[in-house]
Amino acid sequence: MRAIRRRDTKPEKELRSLLHREGLRFRVDLAVRTEAGIVRPDVAFTRARLAVFVDGCYWHGCPEHGRVPKVNVAYWGPKLARNVERDRDNTAALEAGGWTVLRFWEHQDVELAAAETVAVLAALRGEQ
Ligand SMILES: [Zn+2]
Repeated sequence: MRAIRRRDTKPEKELRSLLHREGLRFRVDLAVRTEAGIVRPDVAFTRARLAVFVDGCYWHGCPEHGRVPKVNVAYWGPKLARNVERDRDNTAALEAGGWTVLRFWEHQDVELAAAETVAVLAALRGEQ
């Protein structure tokens, strides 16, 4: 299990560096207090209240790559289902708190993810 890391996956880092290159300032792993407890967006623009997540395909149940585990289904099946449910709850809780939430899959083109983030941020800031 050493290869599995929840934080600072490669796509997250790439997204952060692309956003950085755009001259954007943001918080990493900011603890946001919500009705569902503390939620930590991968990237958070606090003033615009924009939270961005890059979800790992396996752990977050991507429809293309998230597959039912072959070993220890009794353990991993419910665990993965809980992850998906928690993602949904966290998104809803952030939105209830006035946040806009963007979720990308790790398999998505990171350049497109960055472009979408920039566009949504601009819209939230009233720049468009
Ligand atoms: Zn995927």
